Amino acid sequence: MKREVAIIGAGYAGLACAVELARRGIETTVFERSTTLGGRARVVQKDGWTVDNGQHLLLGAYSELTRLLRLTGVSPRRLEHLPLTLCIPGRLRFRAAALPAPAHLAVGLARARGLGWRERFSMFALLRRLKRNRFRLPAETTVTELLSDCRQPAKLRNLVWEPLCVAALNTPAHEASAQVFANVLRDTLAASAAASELLIPRVDLSELFPIPAAQYLATRDGRIFTGNAIAAIAPEENGFRLAGDPAGHSWSQVVIATAPHHAAPLLASTGACSGLATQIAALPAEPIATVYLALGAGVRLPAPMIGLAGGPAQWAFDRGRCGGPEGLVAAVVSAADAKDRDALDAAVFAQLERELGCRLPKAQWIQVIVEKRATFACRPGLARPGIVTPLPGLWLAGDYVESDYPATLEAAVRAGADCARRIAAARTAR
Ligand SMILES: Cc1cc2nc3c(=O)[nH]c(=O)nc-3n(C[C@H](O)[C@H](O)[C@H](O)COP(=O)(O)OP(=O)(O)OC[C@H]3O[C@@H](n4cnc5c(N)ncnc54)[C@H](O)[C@@H]3O)c2cc1C
Repeated sequence: MKREVAIIGAGYAGLACAVELARRGIETTVFERSTTLGGRARVVQKDGWTVDNGQHLLLGAYSELTRLLRLTGVSPRRLEHLPLTLCIPGRLRFRAAALPAPAHLAVGLARARGLGWRERFSMFALLRRLKRNRFRLPAETTVTELLSDCRQPAKLRNLVWEPLCVAALNTPAHEASAQVFANVLRDTLAASAAASELLIPRVDLSELFPIPAAQYLATRDGRIFTGNAIAAIAPEENGFRLAGDPAGHSWSQVVIATAPHHAAPLLASTGACSGLATQIAALPAEPIATVYLALGAGVRLPAPMIGLAGGPAQWAFDRGRCGGPEGLVAAVVSAADAKDRDALDAAVFAQLERELGCRLPKAQWIQVIVEKRATFACRPGLARPGIVTPLPGLWLAGDYVESDYPATLEAAVRAGADCARRIAAARTAR
């Protein structure tokens, strides 16, 4: 007998797809290669410490993820909600005011320390210009070109726009797509005050959504097989067989919900999607390194999340202020700066001392986690694939699938949920 839907990959995209299918009463089975749920957003246990494979920041604009968290019964308290805050010790202090948009920004900027009036007006001028153009830009423009066109002062670029660009797109400004950056600004800074809130998980990233998603599936006849890689997809009449499916079922629909570098060989294995496989394999990737430093009780950063100006890290998170152990700092080294792993922990420790202007106690525990292919490099004019493949019944879901957003949790769950809607529509049309 044919089974309904097989999903390959239990990252945020695959699980969003599974939850949305289950909500619609469609039978779903997820195959996950790892024994841990969450993919590139998962818990890591080491030396008795529980951390994530990388510190993540969510935004109030993550509407689809927020919907799925509600649907799967996740308490809003699992996320630390902060007003948009940019704190770079000794250089910049900005906090959006508790007012409706755009007053939250205007008042926040008026009170900000570290920016002159020229920078404050320039920031609004850039947002105004983007709004006037309905946030549409020539596809080939980079963020650096956009900032130059809008005559943004060097200080504003260095302290605000470039760090925001790397944080959101994981791509340096001179290589990053201005269009995608504009999309992010449209849905955050230029939207409601709630949309620009910073949301920091107070639980690990497997606990945040993947585990509640698995529990939701378990109550709706959904199945998840972990430690179960799928090696190839074989099309057959009106369906597919999967090499690695222990029961050897025939599946009506298959969703490839893996990272792009795993999706390409699976597509190629069908023998009918080589063009799409080549397109996906060509997507450039960027690394992210997270340096965890356990500095002990009594160590607090000036804010739950601070910006760091001098490199190698761009941001540091005080895990102790977000549900974690006191004194645990997670420093994020994005994009190109994450490539050189050697002595990264020592460099980040020295950077923290320098930028906080104080001596720190010796770290009791240090862990450097480098994700070499954390996200695709969000360059201008990138050809991202859609959800549909040349084979009817074979679909793609993942953070790299065509969307307004860069590779983020929100892009991943939007693609997963969209894919579920397409599958449901295709079933109805049959
Ligand atoms: C260090 C780091 C920091 C990040 N920071 C942020 C952030 O601050 N904010 C944000 O929004 N996003 C951030 N991201 C991006 C975000 O984590 C990803 O966009 C998102 O997790 C991608 O989800 P996905 O489901 O598309 O893919 P993945 O998470 O890669 O999931 C794919 C799953 O498929 C499985 N799989 C692969 N091949 C097979 C196979 N053959 N058979 C079975 N299973 C298979 C994998 O094991 C994996 O579990 C960060 C990413 C990293 C790595």
